[in-house]
Amino acid sequence: SKHIVEDTELARREAERPIEVIEGPLMDGMNIVGDLFGAGKMFLPQVVKSARVMKQAVAHLTPFITQARGAPSRTPCCAGHPCTPEAEGSLHARGTPSHSPAEGSDASRPTAGDQSGSKGKIVMATVKGDVHDIGKNIVGVVLRCNNFEVLDLGVMTPAETILDTAAEIDADLIGLSGLITPSLDEMTRVAAEMERRELKIPLLIGGATTSKAHTAVKIAPEYSGPTIYVPDASRGVGVAQNLVSDTARETFVADIENEYAGIRRRRENGARRRPMLSYRQSVANRPRFDWSTYRPPRPARPGITRLANYPLGRLVERIDWTPFFRTWELAGRFPGILEDEVVGEAATSLYRDARDMLDRLVEEEWLIAHGVIGLWPANSLDEDVRIWRDESRDVTLATSHHLRQQADNGRPSLSVADYVAPASIEDHMGAFVVTVETDAEAMRRFEDDDYADIMVKALADRLVEAFAEHLHERVRKEFWGYASEESFTNDELISERYRGIRPAPGYPACPDHSEKETLFTLLDATAATGARLTENYAMWPAATVAGWYFSHPESRYFGVGRIGEDQFHAYCRRKRVDPATARRWISFVLDR
Ligand code: SAH
Repeated sequence: SKHIVEDTELARREAERPIEVIEGPLMDGMNIVGDLFGAGKMFLPQVVKSARVMKQAVAHLTPFITQARGAPSRTPCCAGHPCTPEAEGSLHARGTPSHSPAEGSDASRPTAGDQSGSKGKIVMATVKGDVHDIGKNIVGVVLRCNNFEVLDLGVMTPAETILDTAAEIDADLIGLSGLITPSLDEMTRVAAEMERRELKIPLLIGGATTSKAHTAVKIAPEYSGPTIYVPDASRGVGVAQNLVSDTARETFVADIENEYAGIRRRRENGARRRPMLSYRQSVANRPRFDWSTYRPPRPARPGITRLANYPLGRLVERIDWTPFFRTWELAGRFPGILEDEVVGEAATSLYRDARDMLDRLVEEEWLIAHGVIGLWPANSLDEDVRIWRDESRDVTLATSHHLRQQADNGRPSLSVADYVAPASIEDHMGAFVVTVETDAEAMRRFEDDDYADIMVKALADRLVEAFAEHLHERVRKEFWGYASEESFTNDELISERYRGIRPAPGYPACPDHSEKETLFTLLDATAATGARLTENYAMWPAATVAGWYFSHPESRYFGVGRIGEDQFHAYCRRKRVDPATARRWISFVLDR
């Protein structure tokens, strides 16, 4: 990654025409990178860095090419294939709104690029209501390295924008990404809309909560064109190449359709066999905590505490690095991964870059952390927790609604509400929101540097998780204060050795994302931190974490799993929400 301009300049002088440097040595280099990556001998961080080298070299050559042809003319873009300046502009506008989710993505009018050298055109987007884009951005870089033309519409993209754009540029593929469970339904809607528009082009599905099973069972049936789950960026290239290949496509698609039909059949049979308790039985089967001998702890500092502009330096030591390597598709636990036989070298180099970047962004305050916590008197009633304004326990601030396991497996049927004492016993619960905002001004310097851009976003994710860990520790030791003597190493914290949990709405123990509305209102979290909810209850900025605090010594994480229609209707009544709306937010636990 050093001396790029000098080397490119040397090559340019030797070449007859500047474009030959791109079509010759640079493309050859990228092809070797692509081959090594495909063969598992090179890894994502190296691919993304190689793409950066390519881009820097092309940037040096572009003025010469323009000059040679007489401006205005075609400008080669990063992947080496020529495309129009307008298309180039939109290719790079990844559409991440820097201040407000309401503004949506800012994709400019795309123009079809020159096809020479391009294997195909793909429109990619994070679906409406979702804000996560690290994985999508990585896939974009890798596809571009492999000569695909990628039009990335950014985050929170409505179906209409995706499909209109695909029609406009005559795309060969559409790729959808999403992290939160409501995005699964949104993807299903995009698929249905593709069917309505009588499209035939393949639809690729990716992102953390997506799965082969969900794609096969929920999305594929909505669309008669090929609908394919892509588990990670490395797999993306292979899938895309098969789909644009005249020779391989037919068998590839047929094989997948067969496989998915098999998944649907097995699902149907499996679902019928799984034994479930009725809702009433499950309530009777709740865990029995002995509230007569146990005295719930009283918070040392009840109410709301705002922690604005929190010092980043205090969070660094709380980072859990293992997920960072997973983001870059390097498998293994930190710190062992640094010595790993296969990925050790790539992991070490990535880690060094990450630490350097972390030092810079802490030093120069490119990231800003805000948090807010609240601790209130609370009592449970079955799966609800009533949160009181004060210790007089006569004014309700809010009720947080939860669900109970109904699987018939011989064990108690859990609900997080059980971790709070029933009425007449003084208990408490808490909530938090933490966010790490990126300073838009500071980030502008990375506009043309995918490696740095992805790196900063991945570090912001790490820091916000570290913030959640750090604050939880302070809550146990100071704010709630029930574990003032606690002293754990970072590894012990990561493996949750402490007392109490901080389950996140949208996660398996409390799968209803819409409960974040209650949580945000209780904390006045947007005013306190700037973090906001999208229409699908994703949190903006993407590096935001929220959760409830429970202090009960027996509290632990679990999955609610599948619930019955009986519980669903009781839930709707308690929450005073109509079933159609509620179904949107928890369909995931209803009909798996
Ligand atoms: N060390 C990790 C921590 C985040 S994952 C990191 O840095 O990425 C663990 C968090 O996810 C928990 O603290 C909790 O907020 C949430 N979580 C995990 N399992 C959960 C479950 N079953 N139900 C609800 N929340 C869960």
